[in-house]
Amino acid sequence: MIEELRALAGRPVIIGAGIAGLMTALRLAPEPVVILSKAALGGDSSSAWAQGGLAASLGENDDPALHLADTLAAGDGLCDREMAERITRAAPVAIEDLSRLGVRFDRRADGAPALGLEAAHSRHRIIHAAGDATGREIIRALVEAVRRTPSIAVLEGFEVRRLLVEDGAVVGVLAASARGAASLATTRVVIATGGIGGLFERSTNPDACFGQGLALAARAGAVLADLEFIQFHPTALAGSLRPAPLISEAVRGEGAVLVDETGDRFLADEPGAELAPRDVVARGVWRRLAQGHAVFLDARRQPGARFAQRFPAITAACRSAGLDPATQLIPIRPAAHYHMGGVAVDAAGRSSLSGLWACGEAARTGLHGANRLASNSLIEAIVCAGWVAASVAGAAAGAGRRTQPSTASVPPAPDPLAVRGAVSRGVGILRDETGLASTISALLPLACGGGPASDPALLGLMIAVAALRRRESRGAHWRTDFPSRDSGAKRSTLSLDEALAAFGPAADSRRPIARRA
Ligand SMILES: Cc1cc2nc3c(=O)[nH]c(=O)nc-3n(C[C@H](O)[C@H](O)[C@H](O)COP(=O)(O)OP(=O)(O)OC[C@H]3O[C@@H](n4cnc5c(N)ncnc54)[C@H](O)[C@@H]3O)c2cc1C
Repeated sequence: MIEELRALAGRPVIIGAGIAGLMTALRLAPEPVVILSKAALGGDSSSAWAQGGLAASLGENDDPALHLADTLAAGDGLCDREMAERITRAAPVAIEDLSRLGVRFDRRADGAPALGLEAAHSRHRIIHAAGDATGREIIRALVEAVRRTPSIAVLEGFEVRRLLVEDGAVVGVLAASARGAASLATTRVVIATGGIGGLFERSTNPDACFGQGLALAARAGAVLADLEFIQFHPTALAGSLRPAPLISEAVRGEGAVLVDETGDRFLADEPGAELAPRDVVARGVWRRLAQGHAVFLDARRQPGARFAQRFPAITAACRSAGLDPATQLIPIRPAAHYHMGGVAVDAAGRSSLSGLWACGEAARTGLHGANRLASNSLIEAIVCAGWVAASVAGAAAGAGRRTQPSTASVPPAPDPLAVRGAVSRGVGILRDETGLASTISALLPLACGGGPASDPALLGLMIAVAALRRRESRGAHWRTDFPSRDSGAKRSTLSLDEALAAFGPAADSRRPIARRA
């Protein structure tokens, strides 16, 4: 295996094979590139689970400027306007690119794209595929395209455990596989490892998505941004399944409403009602549950009998829980769903660390601000993959680290199980100083321990520090002890050193949190 990897030295390395990783590799072609993926291509990814679709201003009465306005409104004052403008403008062309790559989008009888409506969108602009199996269809097409592209080397079953850094620049990656540990020398690495839902007790994300790329980047010295902004989806199917099956917003877009066990439509007076921004709906549901009520999605009237045809995957999930969504109330609870924060990147996807880029959910581009507009993440990944690829291709290829690091330096496989309770209690839908401080105290020893919980705890700790520092409520970050908005608020940035410094000299003595392999 070592020989096999040596032959690939010097190529750009993409970590993760969801939509962001696959698309970046395809955009780099014919430049040789390596994809390292924990699972088989597209496996264990949020991408494969995406239901609703991709937001793009394709309708006759739509315009990128309207898509931008909705994105900025949802982002609650913290979007990077220039980036949001570039991405919303590029979205329609990105859909054409996907069609050319073989994605079969749903179309109306006249051949025009079938466009759905989702929360906080002022127009029908959600293009979908295979009904509510959009992610599965895109992954199918991209995996096929990657497999027929000879310049892309695919290493499946490889989990990257550390970035190798020398003199402030990336020189390689350290990975583990069933065949043992290995390092790959490269001066160009793209983190495309997805979201952080696996850090929570209830999440719609596959368990493999627990922010490993963010921990790798932080340990290597890269700056992370907006970590405190975590989107909770208001309508995941209640129960103990992992991941929690998602009942897409598109169901509410088709007319389903939220009710409690008494039949009270408790969000009816909220501006936008059930289609208010996700954070508003999630808090409304959370508070209703906290009052001791049960909460249901009522789709019996709308979409009613059309449910199974429009939402086949959701129908299957409900039926496996013993429910018919067209005739019965669907019990729901919020679940951690999407991370607006991530590795801080510029317009080309470059991080603060030389040789490190990020793309997809792991990146903080500035599109989402404090709250993501529904269906803006797949499109962000597709659009930004092109810009990341151009930047990576334009960067000089260095040799990377030539000596093989000792396999003893490979950390154990990370496991977020031990951190889920503390993370869920401290940085859930409603936060306060006491809860955040107790989460930090619980996570600090785990982060310093060097065991399987170390990387997940380190990231959970950084999220809690970012949430503690933001003494206001905005978008998806709600502090019960600081319920108002701070008019001067800005995006937040945090490095590992800053997070540790927040705990004073005592934390400095715990520096065995190794930053570099
Ligand atoms: C249920 C659900 C429904 C959604 N619906 C929509 C929707 O309708 N529209 C929309 O825009 N967004 C939706 N989203 C969000 C969207 O799917 C994600 O934001 C997007 O797919 C993320 O893509 P990605 O490529 O960045 O990450 P992912 O698709 O999660 O891929 C990351 C990959 O990296 C791998 N990986 C992680 N760490 C390592 C490592 N150390 N070494 C090697 N490999 C690693 C993982 O195994 C995974 O395969 C949904 C999300 C979920 C969970």
